[in-house]
Amino acid sequence: MRCRCYPRGVGERATDVGGVLSALRGLGLRMTPQRQAIVSEVMQAQGHISPAAVARRVQSRMPGVNPSTVYRTLAMLEEMGILSHAHLEGGAEYHRAGEGGHVHLTCSRCGAEDDLSLAEAESLELLIRKHRGFRPDLTHFAISGLCAACQ
Ligand SMILES: [Zn+2]
Ligand SMILES: [Zn+2]
Ligand SMILES: [Zn+2]
Repeated sequence: MRCRCYPRGVGERATDVGGVLSALRGLGLRMTPQRQAIVSEVMQAQGHISPAAVARRVQSRMPGVNPSTVYRTLAMLEEMGILSHAHLEGGAEYHRAGEGGHVHLTCSRCGAEDDLSLAEAESLELLIRKHRGFRPDLTHFAISGLCAACQ
């Protein structure tokens, strides 16, 4: 469920560390060094990143940061539309909003990850719609299976 405490649209405008920090300040949120470190790690991560990995990176810069502070801040950034999540083999991970529009393929044997663009997945989406009238969101959960090397 989306939280309505934060104005929508912040995520589209705040696409880098500086933009996110000024959006948060604009909402009157206190910018602690911990929050700044969390924003900086998640906005500079390559691709998607798990909440646990963000917590580890923040803790290596700032020992003593409570993981629950990291998880709460990430949840707040998602409610603001700055991040979105997808469920992968090892649990939910965050993308920067606008970068999550692809279908994840995860190998359940070796853990390899690949992805399909929405264009590449379109025929699968159309097949499901045709047979069930159901409109799938193929970006939300990964498709689990065996990679070419593991087959
Ligand atoms: Zn992804
Ligand atoms: Zn979900
Ligand atoms: Zn594999």
